[in-house]
Amino acid sequence: MKQLLKKISCNHTHFPKILGIIGHPVSHSLSPLMHNTAIAHYNLDYIYLPFEVSPKELFYAMKGIVSLGFKGINVTVPYKEDVMEYLDKISPHAKLIGAVNTILVENGKLIGYNTDGIGFTTSIKRYAGVSPYKKSVLMLGAGGAARAVAVQLALDKVRNIFIANRTKDRAEKLARHIRSNISKPLSVEVIPNNKKFIKKRIDVVDIVINATSLGMSGKNNIKAFPYECITDKHLVCDLVYNPLETYFLKESRNRGAKILNGLGMLICQGSYSFEIWTKKKLPINIIESILKRRLTD
Ligand code: NAP
Repeated sequence: MKQLLKKISCNHTHFPKILGIIGHPVSHSLSPLMHNTAIAHYNLDYIYLPFEVSPKELFYAMKGIVSLGFKGINVTVPYKEDVMEYLDKISPHAKLIGAVNTILVENGKLIGYNTDGIGFTTSIKRYAGVSPYKKSVLMLGAGGAARAVAVQLALDKVRNIFIANRTKDRAEKLARHIRSNISKPLSVEVIPNNKKFIKKRIDVVDIVINATSLGMSGKNNIKAFPYECITDKHLVCDLVYNPLETYFLKESRNRGAKILNGLGMLICQGSYSFEIWTKKKLPINIIESILKRRLTD
């Protein structure tokens, strides 16, 4: 960080290209640490900053991106869908997901991408050695992250997806979206979000994903889940990365499951974003150890 501040303060004739993240809240984000570490690693002429944007300021923030000369931004909760109306072009993939988490500024135009879903599937391949191809998946949650992950899993040809969500309508909407937009031979079924119904499906499932916000910061742990049915044939993933091992992961690990936290997804989605902006590969091993240290400090 010191190096980056020096970049701004000591060289009055030349300013680095600005990258950043907008969201509300944004103070907890690890993206500035991740991208500034990568920028310093390559000694690039960039800086990545967090911008807290209230809903009524979103319009001005989006207009400012081009006029203030940004090179790109990440978008986080709650604006991944709202920003789409301000973009000049949206990648087919982000359109399919219906949300944008990465924006590139090119020749004064805003181009939107979504790297969340592919970040997740890359992370299970990289960190768990598991390919989604022909797998059966149980997904808890149907919010923004669940949508990106479910669409990508469908594109990666999973065999079936069971979705359980507190708000059933939201799960139905996601299931309809996948069925009508992805012409792959897969089945998508919404199941009631309770232990009894989840228990009936868990035997046929290979991958279990918590895509809800339950378990974040060690709060609201998932207690009503048939952990007794989890075995060593399951890969159990949590999109939450703080704490690194949620109650959900710990209980699953105790039953012999292979487990994966959300840090891999965070790094992999960030890696795709970094490449879109700088055309360079994120130094993943360095980033991984720095973020782990931050999360366990
Ligand atoms: P979101 O759009 O707000 O969705 C939240 C989801 O959690 C919804 O399915 C919601 O159910 C469910 N939920 C919230 N409180 C609940 C409760 N008390 N009981 C049962 N269900 C509850 O948020 P999101 O963007 O999808 O994020 C979801 C999680 O993924 C967060 O923990 C986020 O940090 C994590 N995430 C991680 C990464 C990564 O890179 N690792 C990236 C994106 C997100 P309802 O539909 O019923 O409200």
